[in-house]
Amino acid sequence: MICFSAIVPHSPKIIPTINQEDLDKANKTINAYKILSKQLAKVKPESLVIISSHAPILDGAFSINLAQEYEGNFKSFGDLITKIQFKGDLELNYKIREKFEMDFSASSADKPDVPLTMMTEPHLDYGTFIPLYYFFQEYKDFSIIPVSHCSLDYQQHLDFGQKLREELTLTNKRVAIVASAGLSGCSEKEKPKDTSIGQQFDQKMIKLIKNKKTDQILKLNQKLIEKSGQCGLRPILILLGILKELNYQPEILSYEAPFGTGYLVANLKFS
Ligand SMILES: [Zn+2]
Repeated sequence: MICFSAIVPHSPKIIPTINQEDLDKANKTINAYKILSKQLAKVKPESLVIISSHAPILDGAFSINLAQEYEGNFKSFGDLITKIQFKGDLELNYKIREKFEMDFSASSADKPDVPLTMMTEPHLDYGTFIPLYYFFQEYKDFSIIPVSHCSLDYQQHLDFGQKLREELTLTNKRVAIVASAGLSGCSEKEKPKDTSIGQQFDQKMIKLIKNKKTDQILKLNQKLIEKSGQCGLRPILILLGILKELNYQPEILSYEAPFGTGYLVANLKFS
């Protein structure tokens, strides 16, 4: 069963050992992360599905990173000390794969409708590690399933989420799902010169997430999406695909853009 779901940012600038200069500028986000981590600890998930924008991406297929153990660290940001090990949830991972394979063999088409592949990458990308780092301060008793988005279109990301949901609601395990997703300006290459475009995108996304208008996210202006320099739209769509037919209530814990990247912390709560 799914017991928790959230959207969180993943900027290294919100990590105290990396940003010693102006961490306090992101106070709202850091406090919201702490509140969210306490909320996660309360529901005690056994397994955490984490969909990061910066996880390794394969062309044309979604992927799940399958390993017995993973490590997250901040070496590439100059912090040589912090490192945390996480266990993989092999059991649930196999069940998900089995489900996708079964649907594939039952289908008469040459290709499965949502292609899924497995990879093994024990080193976690920073988009995966940053949320886990915060959660770990409050709660440690979970294994993880890192999921990657891909180059397929937005609708297919929703479809992939919906299909994942079938297995995630069937399992007896308590599962948390987290989209680690930067809003505008997260992508270095596509950082918008005009921050008002970034703000426009962020406000639209927040409103649609808050009002559960998932289908309208698919209709967002493509130019606006491209110009915003966002990185989180696809991971968010997978998450919203998982939640689509479930009863949840979005709570926006914080939003700010202190360093030019939109940071959203939202708990999509189950009643
Ligand atoms: Zn990002």
